[in-house]
Amino acid sequence: MKRIVIKIGTKVLTGRDGRLDEEAIRSLVGQISKMLNSGIEVLIVSSGAIGAGMGILKMKKLPESLAELQAIASIGQTALMNVYNKYFVSNSYFTGQILLTQDDFDDRARYLNIKYTINTLISHRAVPIINENDTIRTDEIKCGDNDRISSLVADLSGADALIMLTDVDGLLDEEGKCIKEADAVTGKISSLVKNTKKTLGTGGMQTKVMAAEFCVNSGIECYIANGKRDNVLLNVIDKKGSFTHFRARAKRISAKKRWIGFGSKAKGALIVDDGAKEALLKHNKSLLSAGISEMSGQFCIGDIVKICDKRQKEFARGISNYSSEEILRIKGRKTQEIETVLGYKDHDEVIHRDNLIIIENSE
Ligand code: GLU
Repeated sequence: MKRIVIKIGTKVLTGRDGRLDEEAIRSLVGQISKMLNSGIEVLIVSSGAIGAGMGILKMKKLPESLAELQAIASIGQTALMNVYNKYFVSNSYFTGQILLTQDDFDDRARYLNIKYTINTLISHRAVPIINENDTIRTDEIKCGDNDRISSLVADLSGADALIMLTDVDGLLDEEGKCIKEADAVTGKISSLVKNTKKTLGTGGMQTKVMAAEFCVNSGIECYIANGKRDNVLLNVIDKKGSFTHFRARAKRISAKKRWIGFGSKAKGALIVDDGAKEALLKHNKSLLSAGISEMSGQFCIGDIVKICDKRQKEFARGISNYSSEEILRIKGRKTQEIETVLGYKDHDEVIHRDNLIIIENSE
């Protein structure tokens, strides 16, 4: 494995007293440094900012107000980075902080920029340490949880594996035993996923399995392991000890199409008629204005939109060549009419088939 993303959850990074567990971080950094010394490139997605902030301010309960939460995340993030940096520097590595919101994944240029920055940091012996930008996020722009972020980062950075560290050994079966190999994320596995009560982190087994599903479909090996166990990372690499492995499948779709389908959020929806649905699903065609019957949302050229059938069921997603205002005027019209209606025609297709992905499991 050449490049690995390691996601570290809040429970791994904080002790019972709620404060940052420096010893745990020192141990993880030591293991990561050994991996780096052996030529493996490592990126970290670290939670723990809010947990650390609460520890510093001696808070017992998560505050309700967003401003409080964001201030706490800000205080905690500095403390968290200080600890990581101290131990990486003592192992002769640097660290580089990257804080992201959903917007950064939605915008194709910013998305690609994250990738270039990560590569440049690595070329300087700096370990990229990524977290959600909790201090500015609002519900509209939040990614949700770091499990999702870590899978998106693994994909965009071209990683071979994602290791998610939490406070249990992996995915557990009905008897509480750790499942070693989870080849496919099946209904059985989903039913094993118990949404454990949330404390400081936002994830749980459910978000981990979703992240694993995205990874394996992107050709990335995925592991869930217990970050509280000694030498956990080195053991996963050496295939020792207990953890759950989700085996990668062959990549079936391009990175750009994965970004369209999973990495970004849709800004609007186009309702299409049955003819257009069939052309897209069965004949791999582009979406033309004539097939669009309704539209919702406000979006610009280049934004991602959902494509739904007349029962409003989403079956595809793509990058729109026209804004919502333009589509309002050209929907239902033939391609040859676009120029007369708008006074110009930059594209024949509203969504070109190269920029369109069919969402799986739709009938
Ligand atoms: N970004 C949050 C933090 O650093 C954690 C989010 C998560 O646990 O998924 O505290």
